[in-house]
Amino acid sequence: MVALAEEFGTPLVIYDGGLLRDTMRRYVQAFRAHDPNAEVIYASKAFWAQALLRMAHEEGLRMDVASGGELYMALHAGFPPGKIVMHGNAKDAREIGEALDAQVGLIVVDSLDEICLLDEIAGERGRVQDVLIRVTPGVKPSTHAYISTGQLDSKFGFSLEGGLAAAAVAACRQAANVNLVGLHCHIGSQIFEIGAYRVAAQLLAEFVKEQGHDDLSIMDMGGGLGIAYTRGDEPPPVEEYADLVMESVLAEWDAAGLPRPRVMVEPGRSIVGRAGVTVYRVTGTKDIPGVRKYVAVDGGMSDLMRPMLYGAVYEALLPERPEAEATESLRLVGKHCESGDVLIQEAELPPVQRGDLVCLPATGAYGVAMASNYNGVTRPAVVFVDDGRPTLVVRRETYAELVARDL
Ligand SMILES: *Cc1c(COP(=O)(O)O)cnc(C)c1O
Repeated sequence: MVALAEEFGTPLVIYDGGLLRDTMRRYVQAFRAHDPNAEVIYASKAFWAQALLRMAHEEGLRMDVASGGELYMALHAGFPPGKIVMHGNAKDAREIGEALDAQVGLIVVDSLDEICLLDEIAGERGRVQDVLIRVTPGVKPSTHAYISTGQLDSKFGFSLEGGLAAAAVAACRQAANVNLVGLHCHIGSQIFEIGAYRVAAQLLAEFVKEQGHDDLSIMDMGGGLGIAYTRGDEPPPVEEYADLVMESVLAEWDAAGLPRPRVMVEPGRSIVGRAGVTVYRVTGTKDIPGVRKYVAVDGGMSDLMRPMLYGAVYEALLPERPEAEATESLRLVGKHCESGDVLIQEAELPPVQRGDLVCLPATGAYGVAMASNYNGVTRPAVVFVDDGRPTLVVRRETYAELVARDL
């Protein structure tokens, strides 16, 4: 990290390329061990560098995109359109047209308006599009628990409760240019309590039995497996999650007397999160006697929004002295003009001073993917390291790029 920070500057996002590839392989193997037709679809919104998308393709994953821009990036990386799954709760006519023109394999429909619009636009093009219906089964997992409760009040998908999902099935069956092939459900993110998938599978099997299974042969169980952000976090390994999802779906479909579906999953965070770290340089410290010590770094909310967006907790370490004893409790803050620009509220570190490097582990998911230019900060470079050899896969943004779009 010290050498890479020297060579590429900071903030720098560093991925373990071997770990990325290994995690993709483990995922595919773990699901295919139960059914060779199972599919792992990478949720590209978690991190979408071209190098990563190409790697996912090489490792046999499919690709989830949630906008026209993500679709463009997947196609640009050489992803076969048939392996792309198009998501989004607010796709507009242009994005639907782009997905149809690209001939994506599946579109996941999210509202009755979208089913009408898709039917119309597909009709204009003389195409019939395979779709999944996004269903919200009413299982609400948190990181450590889940409650089986109504999830009527969500901007995503069609709830089983209240008959919305049934209405969506009927609408798809009526639409001449829409070919219903299955269901999709994504119960949440950063899930440790994977028993929630079993509850979802049970509710979904009941629904399929009610609706008739002929055109519901795909069951996409979404993403959501959690990762360790801090030392105390102990998420289940990929294999345990794969066993639970596959066994739950197959057992529930068997119990309902239904033919077994083709199972798909859409992990994002659990593929890229732990493989990435961000390295910052300390720009200064401030000790307010009797209050606290602040340590400021050369990045912040422009490269890592999660702490500000949903109170996500990270830990820090010092790459130059990783074994030094943590003797200081301090607040690690970014360089942006917002009091809320705090990376870690209470970081435990050895004594830190200006010029030191600070590393935040597990920033590989929803980090640079949410990067912005707030305060005219240029977005960071991204490096993959394989067997000790670094490859720059995304170069740092330049000042010139900050004004390049202005007319
Ligand atoms: C975000 C998202 C995923 C991936 O979620 P992770 O928690 O990163 O695994 C999968 N499917 C859908 C529909 C999503 O919105």
